[in-house]
Amino acid sequence: KQLPADPKLENTRRQVENACFSFVTPKQTAKPELLHVSPEMFDSLGLTDTDAKSDTFLKVITGNEVYPKTKPFAMCYGGHQFGNWAGQLGDGRAINLFEVEHNNKHWAIQLKGSGETPYSRTADGLAVLRSSVREYLCSEAMFHLGVPTTRALSLALSGDQVMRDMLYDGNAAYEKGAIVSRVAPSFLRFGSFQILAARGDTETLKTLTDYTISNFFPELGKPSKETYIAFFNEVAQRTLKMIVDWQRVGFVHGVMNTDNMSILGLTIDYGPYGWLEDFNYGWTPNTTDSQHKRYRYGNQPNMGLWNLYQLANALYLLIEDVEPLQAILDGYQTGFDEQSFAMMRNKLGFEEEDENDKILIQQLEENLHLTETDMTIFFRNLSDFSEENPSEGISIIKDAFYHLNEVEGEIETKWQAWFEAYAKRLKDETASSEVRKTKMNAVNPKYVLRNYMSQLAIDDADKGDYKLIDELFNLLKKPYSEQPENEKWFVKRPEWARHKVGCSM
Ligand code: AMP
Ligand code: MG
Ligand code: MG
Repeated sequence: KQLPADPKLENTRRQVENACFSFVTPKQTAKPELLHVSPEMFDSLGLTDTDAKSDTFLKVITGNEVYPKTKPFAMCYGGHQFGNWAGQLGDGRAINLFEVEHNNKHWAIQLKGSGETPYSRTADGLAVLRSSVREYLCSEAMFHLGVPTTRALSLALSGDQVMRDMLYDGNAAYEKGAIVSRVAPSFLRFGSFQILAARGDTETLKTLTDYTISNFFPELGKPSKETYIAFFNEVAQRTLKMIVDWQRVGFVHGVMNTDNMSILGLTIDYGPYGWLEDFNYGWTPNTTDSQHKRYRYGNQPNMGLWNLYQLANALYLLIEDVEPLQAILDGYQTGFDEQSFAMMRNKLGFEEEDENDKILIQQLEENLHLTETDMTIFFRNLSDFSEENPSEGISIIKDAFYHLNEVEGEIETKWQAWFEAYAKRLKDETASSEVRKTKMNAVNPKYVLRNYMSQLAIDDADKGDYKLIDELFNLLKKPYSEQPENEKWFVKRPEWARHKVGCSM
């Protein structure tokens, strides 16, 4: 069964009721220019190098030509933003082009930044080069890290100038406009379900839920209350897995509003996201959230649960039974405890079980907060630690300390104590240290998209030099591998980048 469409065929901003999407026309742009494509994504879609170089591809992927017999559309959704119900949001600057089947996989292709839609509210429907480079590089990097995510297919300039800021003198600041094409089996969000429930539109909610299950969760079976409960359980499990992966690699999403929660458990909407440099549960890259820090690193698991409560409230209209929903939500909590424990044990290279592992991990997390300690470097270098030489622990991970001079006195004593406990614990392991090192290096990435790295690529791109985008793109394809020629990217954040963070618009 198809989803109901908005009968109105214009891009004017409006409330769209009894429908899941509106047909729209992408904006014509002044001078489209392709900057980069993802060869892996190209392959997955069954496209070739020749396609990438064709004029049709450039035009379609920048919204300048509509592919024959397709009808682009923008989706309607709502969401809780920073804990408050915000009503209708929707694809304000995203336009779905079409869907592709290849190798038994189903992909939806979407443009981000190709003009206004009925859901644009007060904004322009456009995207700038800066945020587009960040989304493009990070979504593919996350894919190669093994974190569930939406993908990126291409990065292009629109050739238009986009106004983003008013300067102090009252003049406008313009930036280069850009369009990213992104790809996922589906871009449906928690908010797609919430908006229908909020409007009391149970009929469309049922249609959407049945559509989602039959297309993306067919193994759950025919529509019934049991199937809806199983569906919610599956969404909860996928969300949980995604967030445990975020915690493992040090990714902070920054805007976990329910409109940014994929129903497929994919990382979606690379706005103000950031990567942990020093390990800090209180850190958020989102400057608009700097007071409450709702979406800080250490709070992501709780926010995932909070968002699942909102989805449960929406699906309740179809299930009409609190108990099974509550059981699933409770299961998320225990599931998180178990999975994050397992994840930390993997990061430390433990295969055997020990009743004191929880304490050892807790002490490590406390130590990591004592003085700024780079998460990526710490865990990567930890695989060089030998249980035979606990006193060498600090020197093995010293490159992770932002202020090595602070590692003295009490702080030094605490680290020494931890390394001694860790060494003692490792002696219970039966695997060889080589095997342990290989396993640790498979879960502790060496290369991540540090915030300053995308900033450097953006600064160059702004001047018309796209080499660094390509360099980082290739570097991040093998985040767990040793890449001797790329050691320069395995370093702490430089001091100039201390207060440089993400950007969302
Ligand atoms: P976000 O915080 O990025 O998830 O965006 C929240 C809502 O604002 C979504 O409905 C977006 O589609 C919309 N939005 C964000 N930026 C723009 C823009 N430049 N033009 C139109 N809508 C936008
Ligand atoms: Mg969003
Ligand atoms: Mg966004």
